[in-house]
Parts: sequence; C-alpha cells; structure tokens
Amino acid sequence: MTPEDLAFDQRHLWHPYTSTLRPLPCAPVVAAEGCELQLADGTRLLDGMSSWWSAIHGYNVPELNAAISGQMAKMSHVMFGGITHPSAVALGRRLVDITAPELEAVFLADSGSVSVEVALKMALQYWQGRGVEGRSRFAAFSFGYHGDTFGAMSVTDPDNGMHSLFKGFLAQNIFLEAPPIDPACMPPVVPAAADTAGGISGQELSAGKNACRCNGGAGGCPVADPEIVARWRHTLIQHVDELAAVIIEPIVQGAGGMRIYHPCYLRQLRMLCDELDLLLIFDEIAVGFGRTGKMFGYEHAGIIPDIMTVGKALTGGYMTLAATLATADVAATVCRSKAGVFMHGPTFMANPLACSVAEASIALLIDSPWQQRLQDIESHLRSALWPLAELPSVAAVRVLGGIGVVEMTESIDVAEAQALLTSHGVWLRPFGKLLYTMPPYTISAGQLEQLTTAMKTFCESKV
Ligand code: PMP
Repeated sequence: MTPEDLAFDQRHLWHPYTSTLRPLPCAPVVAAEGCELQLADGTRLLDGMSSWWSAIHGYNVPELNAAISGQMAKMSHVMFGGITHPSAVALGRRLVDITAPELEAVFLADSGSVSVEVALKMALQYWQGRGVEGRSRFAAFSFGYHGDTFGAMSVTDPDNGMHSLFKGFLAQNIFLEAPPIDPACMPPVVPAAADTAGGISGQELSAGKNACRCNGGAGGCPVADPEIVARWRHTLIQHVDELAAVIIEPIVQGAGGMRIYHPCYLRQLRMLCDELDLLLIFDEIAVGFGRTGKMFGYEHAGIIPDIMTVGKALTGGYMTLAATLATADVAATVCRSKAGVFMHGPTFMANPLACSVAEASIALLIDSPWQQRLQDIESHLRSALWPLAELPSVAAVRVLGGIGVVEMTESIDVAEAQALLTSHGVWLRPFGKLLYTMPPYTISAGQLEQLTTAMKTFCESKV
C-alpha cells in the first residue's frame, strides 16, 4: 500500500468506533498466513486477536480456500426466498448436528448483531403465537454486549454501552446484575503470612467485589450466590408480564468486560426461566465453536437455551455470517402468530459462499484435535499470565480455554500499547483496561510464548 492509499484511508474510510476528525493510525495488512498478518513493508505480526475472535484456524487455510473457491465456480449467490442450495443444507445439517438436539430450527443471518435482532424478533413473535399481549421487553445483564444494531444495543450494558447516545429511540429493557467473576479463572489465592489467623489475603481483597461468593464446597463453586439469584428472581417476577425473554452471553461476557463466570449461574437462570415461563436466549457469538474449551458455552452448564445465536468463528473468520437457532417449539409457536411466518428475510440470506466456508470450517474444527489444542492454550495462558497478577500495574488476570485476559489498574492507551506490542511482533487490540488475547486454535507453542512474553513486557512497562 502506498502512502497515498493510507492518506486516502484516513481521509475517507470510517474504521470501527473512530473519528473522521482524528482518525487513528491503521496497520496496512496486505496478506495473512497461518497465525500471522503481513504488513505492506513485509513485517509479520503474530495475530493474538484472531480478527476479533473469528479466525480460529488462522489465515489462508487450504481447506477453507478450496470450499469457497469451489462454491464460487458454481454460484456466488442466489436468493434464498423460494430457493435452496447445497451449501445451505450442508451447513444447516452441521449446525443441527453439533448443537443440542432440541435446537432444530436454523435462521441464517448476515452478522452477529443481526442474528441477535433475529433472536429478539423470534421471542416477540413467540408470545404473539401464544396469544399473549404485552410481552415486548427483554431482561439482559450489566456488562453484557450483544452488538451495535438497535435491538442488540438495547440489551447491551446501559452504562458501558451506547444507551445514553441513543436515548429516546432505544427500547427500554430491564437489566439484572452480572454474575460475578469465577475465581477458578483467576490465579489461586495464596494466603499471605499475616492472614493465617483467618483474615482476608491481599489477593482476595484485590479480587474484591468480583470474588464469587458461592457457598463453596470441594468443587470450589457448585452453587450460585443465592442472594444474586434471589435478586434476579425478584426483578424478573416484577416484570414478568412484560418480558419476552432473558438474554445472556453464556460463560463469558465478552466485549462488555471479558468477564468469565461460573456455569452455575446459567443453571439458575434456566431454572428461573422455567419457573416463570420465560424464554432464555444465549448469545454464543463470541464463545461458540470451542473458544471456552467446550463446543458451545451452554455445554459447561448442561442446560439448553430456547434460542441461541452464533457468528464470528462460524465461517472460520472468512466472511460475515451468523445464525439463530431455536427449539422446534419456539419455531412452531412463532409461525402460529398472527403473521403466520417469521418476519425476517435479508437479501443475502444464506449466501452460498458464506455457507460453504462455514460448513468447511465446522468440518475442519470437528476433525481437528481442538479440545487438546484448547487445553494446551489454556495451560500456557495460565502459567504465563497468572503470575502477572503480582504486578502492581495489574488488577486481575483471567483465563478460560483460548481466552487470556489481563485487567490493568489503569486504562490502556491503545496506540502506545500497540507500538510496544508490534515492536515484539505481536498484534493485539486492547480496550479499556483490558489487554487480552484470543489466538487462533492453531497457534504453536513457540508463538504462544512470543504472544504472552509481549503481554508480560507491556505489563512490566507500566510498573
Ligand atoms: N454478540 C456478541 C457476544 C459479540 O461478541 C458480538 C461482536 N463482538 C456481537 C454479538 C455482534 O456481532 P457482529 O459484530 O458480527 O455484529
């Protein structure tokens, strides 16, 4: 890319969450291979972000290239209204096969945010199908993130999110307190010498309000904090006649804070939704397809949502595609509503190129030793990142599966952090106080070492 190209980009192209008045510098990436991005000047950067958590197999993957080019030679696109095609059917089969048997109905959507809109619309039409009026709000969680379209924004954390900017237009939903961070993802608490008389150690104090106050037991955390669950129940009961569904990101609240929580909270939520006759929506867009060490987040809890969204890693990061899956009962009830159909149908629904590469990505994933890979990544992240919690610049460290999060005590200057990280050959994009990685599953042990060493160097530079 020439300097003129970059100047044009700065003058004319809007990047995610950026200003046209003060555009941020952008790294010119001209190619990508394996786990590395190649810059215009030939520099290679190890990608610790998997292109916002999607490129789970890395880049330029022969199997995925073959799928997409094979499809392109036959047909790049065809409308899905009144037409079907082999790649949509093959992908649908895969999705039905790898998810819980109850999740039978698949709606293919254009992006993660759109699949969330679809899930919310399904829940609204479900109540119409049951002939119940007034069920037009959702219960969501603080620190939650579900996307940037209006419905998705309306169920995203009201304080971290964009509610104040779009007040007056955004639907007013109900927010429940977030499940506390699971201590099992953080370094074990080592009682300080002065605390042997039963006091609280420094680390417990620093975990502070985030520490899980479950009733404990040999497994560490088998029961959710009954007070939190009681407060959830109280709020849900107060609003039950106006609620269509509860929506949550299972196991990890991603863009709202990279908060890993215990599956017991999902079990409690399922029980509450059953008790109060509410639909439960899981947004698996960030965690689906193995990221947490299980194929889907709900598997940690052994429960099943009524509606679920997947995206990001669905196509192995090749192109935009998402899906909303629903139980047969939800689908049938939606279609018994006054409209008689589900009211959504985008132009590029079930795009054949996207379906073909998604199907190939799932095949590649399930044929790979992905559980072992995720276990190896997790143990490396634990041994390399957990000790960083000792540094005064670090507030907390959390690890689960292929997710490693270092929460700093201060907000991170992204440009400054990236200058240091790229000088160590690593691409990460911190946000807020969070320096984190979600590498491709195919990352080698040596590359992981390079990645976590760069993270350590950054944390040490802030001491
Ligand atoms: N839900 C979750 C949990 C996400 O992490 C994201 C994206 N970060 C979205 C929804 C929105 O997906 P997209 O960016 O593809 O619209």
